[in-house]
Amino acid sequence: MGIAPHTNPASKFDWVVVGAGFTGLAAARRLAELNPEHSIALIEAMPIGWGASGRNSGFVIDLPHKFDLDSDDKERLSAILRLNTTALADLEQHTQNHQIECEWSKVGKLQAAMNERGTAKMQGFMKALDRINVPYSFLDRDALRSMTGTGIYTGAVHTSGGVLMNPVKLARGLAGSMPENVQVMDGCPVINFSRGDDFNTLTLRYQGVSTQIQSPKTLLCTNAFTSEFGFLKNRMAPVITFASITRPLTNEEMTAYGGELDWGLTPADPGGTTLRMTQDRRLLIRNQYDYAGNYGAKDEQLEKIVLQHRASFLARYPQLEAVPFVSTWGGICGLSRNHVSFFGQVANNVWNSSCHNGVGVARGTISGRLMAEAASGQRSSLLEDMEKVSGQPALNPPDPFLGLGVRTRLKLAAWQSREEV
Ligand SMILES: Cc1cc2nc3c(=O)[nH]c(=O)nc-3n(C[C@H](O)[C@H](O)[C@H](O)COP(=O)(O)OP(=O)(O)OC[C@H]3O[C@@H](n4cnc5c(N)ncnc54)[C@H](O)[C@@H]3O)c2cc1C
Repeated sequence: MGIAPHTNPASKFDWVVVGAGFTGLAAARRLAELNPEHSIALIEAMPIGWGASGRNSGFVIDLPHKFDLDSDDKERLSAILRLNTTALADLEQHTQNHQIECEWSKVGKLQAAMNERGTAKMQGFMKALDRINVPYSFLDRDALRSMTGTGIYTGAVHTSGGVLMNPVKLARGLAGSMPENVQVMDGCPVINFSRGDDFNTLTLRYQGVSTQIQSPKTLLCTNAFTSEFGFLKNRMAPVITFASITRPLTNEEMTAYGGELDWGLTPADPGGTTLRMTQDRRLLIRNQYDYAGNYGAKDEQLEKIVLQHRASFLARYPQLEAVPFVSTWGGICGLSRNHVSFFGQVANNVWNSSCHNGVGVARGTISGRLMAEAASGQRSSLLEDMEKVSGQPALNPPDPFLGLGVRTRLKLAAWQSREEV
């Protein structure tokens, strides 16, 4: 299933959704369902799947994750669970309805520790799960070794609700199966956004030419890039994180590896390493963060990352020294200083959801859907949940202090988690 070839964009749409990551994909689909008579433009700067949504590790996480686990508030944790599980169910339904082949696999997720610090975090995770009545099982080092092929982890909690998938295939499948009243325009960066009383005007580069389109209502699903549109200025830091993947292991290498196929592990210590074995025998590793004030990484930075990933890989799989990475890449996420996500109306007829703090497959999907519902005047208990768990990201100092501050915090986190990297 592909994406329909571009046709010349009409100059007026009832709705414009900017950004076709998981947030924008969900927003455009829901707008179309709720407003079948309306025209909707879904505009993406890059080819679909090239942004963070297509470049992530492919975990659709149902549970409160990372910073959300710092909360003792049962109501908040339960709201996050309801939101994420709804996102997961929505995505599953779309993959089934549109036969999106994206290696969708309901294998759950491991949250694993390598040392005392990780074990303490894992205990906090188990407490949070108890608080919201989510069942889990515990795997010791031996059980983990036979599943993951590495004896580096001391223990892990397995929860069964999460899903693993191939993110670029899912993003492309979703974009390629939009309702008829959605026009998907990828490779079209919005280069100017001007707000008006009756409609907003967006200038975009369309097939190398500048074009203007107008719409009374705009949904900005641009995550880390939102400040470029004049909103959430100095409230979000663009942060890049990196992943590497091997080629498929040969039969001989599979024997040396000694583990199973199709599992995913996130670190109990949030600064640690995400690890995954795909259905087609590839090992994926994700770690390292950096401030990305210019939304990218330099070649020499990538070279360093490859070496760091290699070290993380060999610490886990010394027996696979001959297996090369075939790809190393980075993707931009939006992080807030107080770990708060934003959801809501930012101006007359402009809505935004940003800053999913690195776990945006589920959170982006549900926030996109709920943004479309809120903008269409539809309220629900899920929308109340979303409002409850969102807030105002804290103000950051301007650059260069922001870059210095973020880098210092990331370095501290990396140092604290150094054994888990
Ligand atoms: C290596 C890596 C691994 C990760 N692993 C996971 C994981 O396993 N599970 C998980 O839940 N999360 C993971 N994340 C985080 C996750 O990818 C993000 O939280 C998620 O992509 C957020 O979705 P989004 O749609 O809100 O934003 P994005 O995916 O960033 O989408 C925003 C889109 O807006 C577009 N845009 C911006 N400006 C413009 C403009 N001017 N004109 C047109 N378009 C514009 C961008 O090109 C982009 O495609 C990972 C991230 C990375 C980088």
